[in-house]
Amino acid sequence: MTSPAVQPTLNVVMLGPPGAGKGTQAERLASRHRLPKISTGDILRKAVQTGSELGGAARQLIDAGKLVGDDAVIGIVKGRLECEDARCGFILDGFPRTVVQATALDEMVAMRGPLVVLDIVVPEDVLVHRLAGRRICSRCGANASVDAKDACTRCGGELVTRTDDGAEIVRERLKIYQRQTKPLVDYYAQRLTFRSIDGNQSPDIVTASIDAAITAAATAGRGRA
Ligand code: ADP
Repeated sequence: MTSPAVQPTLNVVMLGPPGAGKGTQAERLASRHRLPKISTGDILRKAVQTGSELGGAARQLIDAGKLVGDDAVIGIVKGRLECEDARCGFILDGFPRTVVQATALDEMVAMRGPLVVLDIVVPEDVLVHRLAGRRICSRCGANASVDAKDACTRCGGELVTRTDDGAEIVRERLKIYQRQTKPLVDYYAQRLTFRSIDGNQSPDIVTASIDAAITAAATAGRGRA
């Protein structure tokens, strides 16, 4: 008798400071594994753009480089993970960002496979330099590729600087990262499915390191299950 086919799942959390390359790598990972990339930053910026109630409340916090409240963000992710396209897994970018969010995520995924946690590590001076030059598409929200001139290479939208990428706000975001998000490395570090990635390399090399890390972490996670 053959056993029923088991759908392979992949649940990824991308950790790392602003500018580490989480968004770019999450996008690549999502398209390779045909899983949704769930970026709380993108969802919140969309909400600001459309002028929804959530956007109204989030705008000032985002522009000041502060975190949006845990309850609001946890609610967004909980709803999103219940969508059909996230049944076989997801790539989370920008969530969790606090220990409260990480605890809530563990509860949300208790009945799924293990979380593969990738911590992308980049020195602070490199981050500041990268964020100073970053532009995003005002229409689809994608990060502009380095060779893009005035228009988004994906949808043709206008490229703009993010309102929270100014030097002073970037310093505030990095401070908040150190205080509220870095502790998540300790929260996850003992898990067999945690991997640290050197993010101070070319995007393609980082992608290759991530692929290797996911294979190793997924194998370790299955061994445990
Ligand atoms: P980056 O990783 O480059 O800092 P994001 O696009 O992930 O940027 O987030 C932009 C802003 O959106 C954050 O500075 C914060 O205000 C808000 N935000 C995004 N994700 C979260 C989250 N999980 N918890 C609280 N606030 C968040």
